[in-house]
Amino acid sequence: MTAAGPTTVVDNIGCLVTNDPALGDGPLGVAHGAGVVIQDARVIAVEPAGAAADRRIDAGGGCVLPGFVDSHTHLVFAGDRAEEFTARMAGQPYTGGGILVSTSATRAATDEALRALLAGRVAEARRAGTTTVEIKSGYGLTVDDELRSIRLAAEVTPEVTLLGAHLVPAEFAGRADQYVDLVCAEMIPRAVGTARWVDAFCEVGAFDAEQCRRVLTAGRAAGLGLRLHGNQLGHGPGVALAVEMGCASVDHCTFLSDADIDALAGSPTVATFLPATDFSTRQPYPPARRVVDAGATIALASNCNPGSSYTTSIPFCIALAVREMHLTIEEAVAAATTGGAAALRRADVGHLGIGAAADLVILDAPSYHHLAYRPGVPLVRTTLTAGIPLYP
Ligand SMILES: [Zn+2]
Repeated sequence: MTAAGPTTVVDNIGCLVTNDPALGDGPLGVAHGAGVVIQDARVIAVEPAGAAADRRIDAGGGCVLPGFVDSHTHLVFAGDRAEEFTARMAGQPYTGGGILVSTSATRAATDEALRALLAGRVAEARRAGTTTVEIKSGYGLTVDDELRSIRLAAEVTPEVTLLGAHLVPAEFAGRADQYVDLVCAEMIPRAVGTARWVDAFCEVGAFDAEQCRRVLTAGRAAGLGLRLHGNQLGHGPGVALAVEMGCASVDHCTFLSDADIDALAGSPTVATFLPATDFSTRQPYPPARRVVDAGATIALASNCNPGSSYTTSIPFCIALAVREMHLTIEEAVAAATTGGAAALRRADVGHLGIGAAADLVILDAPSYHHLAYRPGVPLVRTTLTAGIPLYP
């Protein structure tokens, strides 16, 4: 048996968000005058300030929160699509077709180049407070290129998602069903052991409900967890399918019918909102207020990708969720922490209860309200992942 390692206390905290109602006030479990004691990458105690420990990290009177859980990103890609964004701001609609531009650039990139791009984006996310990140493939769209993307993603996170069914690649134009056959028969079986999840893009111009159902069914049979992109560009069958299939999460949810909201409220499927996407594609924002009021579990994620949402900033998403989606600041913070953890079916992250991962954000601000109140400002003083500070 290994001896327990040294202890660290994060102290001089202005306001501590634990997300554990047993440790503080309200649903966010907010405590004042408390310190967080860490050992062996776990939270072992929340004690009054001044607790003894081998090492002390001074929060400078700032707010401390659980690290953000970004449950939806597409960080493995090469190239960018600034021109597409510029054209969109000049009035061109977003269609999703630009995914194939990123696919060409990604296929052409070396492993070393993709690995470096991915590392840079993960570092950027961490500087903005993200400590758990889900990463999808989806810019390879051949068996080998998709497997390469999930292998690279697995080097930086356990939350790896095979999104072979992102878009029909050019070489399968007009033969979507045959491409889905390839995803089900070859990509999914070979992704087992590397990917934890399978996902599909259920949208007009991508894959229809029947094609997505085939992908999810094959994923489930292979032992993968299920996620789905749905209801991004218009009303559609994505939410209903995700609930029916027992997906952990259905993501976007920008266009929801009353029946969709009822279905989400009565199911464990998390409704994940990606408001930076609606911002970047100049779309309406999701009816999040109605979803929350109906009792559904929600998450907030970045959807970082080169086409429709090129940001890794969860604080930016929180600001949008409050300003544009009418969530309270508490609801938005919870959605980006416990909500993301629920969407990834993780009990060890998204909160600072005893035994949780020692993943923390320390803000250069006295309270979490500043995340929405001071949009666009880099408020993260440092991030601890598994107890290790970003800036030692
Ligand atoms: Zn996405």
